[in-house]
Amino acid sequence: MTPRRVRDIEYQLLPGSQRKTTDIVIERNGQIVVRPPVGYTPEQVDSLVESKRLWIYRNLAEWKDLNATAVAREWVNGETFLYLGGAYRLSLVSGQDESLKLKDGRFCLSRDLIEQGGTQAARTAFEQFYADKGQQRFADRVAYFAPKVGVEISSIRVKDMGYRWASCGRNGALNFHWKCMMAPPKIIDYFVVHELCHFHHRNHTDAFWNEVDKVLPDWRERKEWLRKRGASLDI
Ligand SMILES: [Zn+2]
Repeated sequence: MTPRRVRDIEYQLLPGSQRKTTDIVIERNGQIVVRPPVGYTPEQVDSLVESKRLWIYRNLAEWKDLNATAVAREWVNGETFLYLGGAYRLSLVSGQDESLKLKDGRFCLSRDLIEQGGTQAARTAFEQFYADKGQQRFADRVAYFAPKVGVEISSIRVKDMGYRWASCGRNGALNFHWKCMMAPPKIIDYFVVHELCHFHHRNHTDAFWNEVDKVLPDWRERKEWLRKRGASLDI
């Protein structure tokens, strides 16, 4: 196949066929492939392609639509995403500036984003959304609970923590997994208090749980919720 360009249309030129007509096909990967009758010069094919511009554009647009839907299918059809314990349906939105935003009870994901970057870009947009929201929420909740637990925090980061929900450094640094933001607020508070209490006790001894109990007397229920439902907090 020879790549050719006529104005803004790029196409692959196949060797001539015995048929009398020119075949123009949009391949599954969106490539335009042209097979002319045998004996056509490349210049003749160029002008033929140009005369079919409108048809080509219409079909390319249709291909893009179908393709975006195919990529987004697992992200769109009946798909819901958790945020602060609520389930929100996903909508693909054209012409949206932000990659992802929560609006009118729906997660609105940019159609351009998924057309260009596919599932990976969508996943990244969600991770970024949870991380951004998490940064604010964890800052608020840590500011609220730290004095109650009697500790001072130097920094808070929300990021991918692998299989861990959270961690605390000896220097007063707290880290939370962005997935925590999918949990209900009560569970988020449990993450916060749990980590704060680790500044007093690095382990999970009775003394540690006693510390948690002073601030969250119903910590057992929250811990149990996490044990049962924690695995569902994922995208
Ligand atoms: Zn712990």
